[in-house]
Amino acid sequence: MDAVDDTTDKRTNEGDEGSISDADEAVHSVRYKRKKVNEASTSGSVAAGAGAGAGAGAGRTSGLYLDTIQRFMLDFDFEKVCSVSLSNLNVYACLVCGKYFQGRGPTSHAYFHSLHENHHVYINLNTLKVYVLPDSYEVTDSSLDDIKYVLDPRFTPAQVEALDKNSRQSFDLNRKPYLPGFIGLNNVKANDYVNVVIQVLVHIPPVRNFFMLQTFDDKSELVKRFGTLVRKIWNPAAFKGQVSPHELLQEISNASNRQFKLTKQGDPLAFLSWFLNTLHRDLGGSKKKNSSIIYSTFQGELSIESQSIDTNTPKGSVVSFDPNNAVTKIKSPFLFLALELPPAPLFHDEQERNIIPQIPLTAILSKYDGKTTQETASELKRFHIIRLPNYIIFHIKRFSKNNFVEEKNPTIVTFPIKNLSMAEYVSDPEKENALGLHYDLLANVTHEGDPATPGSTSYKVHLQHRAKEQWYQIQDLFVEEINAQMIFLSESYIQVWERKSKA
Ligand SMILES: [Zn+2]
Repeated sequence: MDAVDDTTDKRTNEGDEGSISDADEAVHSVRYKRKKVNEASTSGSVAAGAGAGAGAGAGRTSGLYLDTIQRFMLDFDFEKVCSVSLSNLNVYACLVCGKYFQGRGPTSHAYFHSLHENHHVYINLNTLKVYVLPDSYEVTDSSLDDIKYVLDPRFTPAQVEALDKNSRQSFDLNRKPYLPGFIGLNNVKANDYVNVVIQVLVHIPPVRNFFMLQTFDDKSELVKRFGTLVRKIWNPAAFKGQVSPHELLQEISNASNRQFKLTKQGDPLAFLSWFLNTLHRDLGGSKKKNSSIIYSTFQGELSIESQSIDTNTPKGSVVSFDPNNAVTKIKSPFLFLALELPPAPLFHDEQERNIIPQIPLTAILSKYDGKTTQETASELKRFHIIRLPNYIIFHIKRFSKNNFVEEKNPTIVTFPIKNLSMAEYVSDPEKENALGLHYDLLANVTHEGDPATPGSTSYKVHLQHRAKEQWYQIQDLFVEEINAQMIFLSESYIQVWERKSKA
């Protein structure tokens, strides 16, 4: 990936503001470059036009050809396969029309395209080298850097460090403003359930930073494509202020044996669970704690105590452990905590409208206080948290199947957005207190609509911009500011809470 590193270095060294210390400056640098591109290619074309003649070399004619590049036609979010052969080997993008073609030899699809369409500039989507066809010579010109950057954005540790301090807007090629990190994701067909999970993960600092800074040459296609998408979502110099997750979605479909498709609505919790476990495995994680960025971010540990109960006793009649009976105790790691909602009573007010019940988050969290019991067919169980993760994922169980029809419990869960104390649910608060027992809300995934009516439902996510201290609601391509007080009025389904550092 020398070409890419080289690009980054140039961007850093040549910015006219001198030292580039944060993402703001990086935007400046790239914008400045883009302006220069237009000037350079215009003047270049005049020079090349005047000087073009027999035996014109790379330096002479490339200016003319670079002027034919149409940046607004370029979209590198789709699977890198030849539009004719569908092969993924040795694929080039035509920088004039944006289409992908295989090869550049005299019998290749790119070569034919250059002759038939008079489109002459191509970038190799793997090496990021740019060639003029059909002559087949390489062009190295710093005016191409912004294209290489959009194809594969790279960040320095200092730029990543500055992401949550930078509140400046960027502008895309149409001069449309966007906030890096808070951009919409296309819903290709029915992938809003995947989009909300991606938006959550790219806002969890340790996960985001890891995927932005590491290179994954020896890792799975899933890891590589997720890393690229994370960097595109935070790109301060994007051509378009939105990203299509298409390339990652294709790989998710392949890697999950089509369990998760972009054409059929799915369950974001099931997807999140599969995705975290697959990323963990593909990053070389083992059963040990902290063996991947996934485990070191999300994994906690529970103690589960259980006692068998006589199957003849009526359900619900046993609510506490019998001190005379044996207790089985196991420790179990977790990546998320499931929270049950009480059955929703169907109250009606005078106008016969349904009254939607509300319950505080702390009430459903009491499941983990080490005292409250849960009854299964033959066992009574109680749960206590032994180790808290830095990022806790809550799964609020709203959905159940009744006669094969999906039903949703509409109960609203109320919560403070900041400073949720987990002290009551931890078996050894003294020990955990050293790391912090208080959490702030980081992400809230909500569900809308009736699950029994396919096509009527949608998932949205609430996320906070740290520098602006502003909450946003993102639903596929729609990104809008939202009042923090509105967040708990929706039907939360998945939440991520961030441990407050004690510093
Ligand atoms: Zn073309």
